[in-house]
Amino acid sequence: MKKIITCMFIIVSLLPPLVMAEQVNLYSARKEALIKPLLDKFTQQTGISVNLVTGNADNLITRLKSEGKYSPADLLLTTDVGRLYRAKQQGLTQEIAETEAISKLPNNFRDEQGHWLGLSLRARPLMVSAERVNGQSITKLEDLTAPEWKGRICIRSSSNIYNQSMVASLIAQQGESATEEWVNGLVKNFARPPQGGDRDQIKAVASGLCDVAIANTYYLAGMLSSEDETTKQQGKKVKVVWPNQGDRGAHINISGVALAKNAPNKVAAVKLIEFLLSDESQMWYAKTNHEYPVLAAIPWSDLLQSFGTFKTEQVPLGKLGELNSAAVQMMDRAGWK
Ligand code: FE
Repeated sequence: MKKIITCMFIIVSLLPPLVMAEQVNLYSARKEALIKPLLDKFTQQTGISVNLVTGNADNLITRLKSEGKYSPADLLLTTDVGRLYRAKQQGLTQEIAETEAISKLPNNFRDEQGHWLGLSLRARPLMVSAERVNGQSITKLEDLTAPEWKGRICIRSSSNIYNQSMVASLIAQQGESATEEWVNGLVKNFARPPQGGDRDQIKAVASGLCDVAIANTYYLAGMLSSEDETTKQQGKKVKVVWPNQGDRGAHINISGVALAKNAPNKVAAVKLIEFLLSDESQMWYAKTNHEYPVLAAIPWSDLLQSFGTFKTEQVPLGKLGELNSAAVQMMDRAGWK
């Protein structure tokens, strides 16, 4: 009898565990440092491990597509809604079942069919020279086409999706012809052919190369909280001006997440989405990445508060993806490099 029991014990201990450890496979276009600490917290709290694959958004979308139904990916994380839209259009995503945490998100931060949603908010206002530009002299994006701004505007290239999304959003709100007129006027007032990233435009304003830039606020916030004194001082020379506060509001975008069409770990993936929408994660985004929370109830960091509150555009963000190619063609026609 003892022998039989010993034998059974050996057999049972050789069997694979019935419950496999839960995991989520995350394809992420965010810099690892800007997401990994949150994922580690998630694992600590839930015991669910996260396998992070970091890469360029378009490459990750291509990879998802070529892996097809054998793709291990559960979630795709990107820093612009245009990419989430692209993944959905290519049939690479599926509906995320609505949970309580998800239902708190404003509708314009979610895909109409629930395939993707926003995790953090990014704002793209004007950044002007604190010394040379009177904040009152410019209140709308439309002002930038006036002759007084000739040779004074810096902005990055039209190949950048932030600018593509900004123009797409204008098309959604103002129509093609008014937007085309604005794009043409803006390009005529450029101080130099577009070059560098958003931070380079802010630096160009600080150094006097131009007087106005359009850039995402977290770049300026990053400069202001830099340990490098020169960078910090450059940041201080630039002031945020929230455009269009008397009408449609300032342009915004999201970093967000889509549920992969063949997600093998759907339940765990939704738990991760809920975690990223939790108060704790939302505050972390605002403090560490200097992005705005997507949920109105979450307090902003002191640095974000120093930029002031603002009214935002109310365009359903999916429109930015839908109108992306119209925007790109328009920028090309205007000679926006
Ligand atoms: Fe960025």
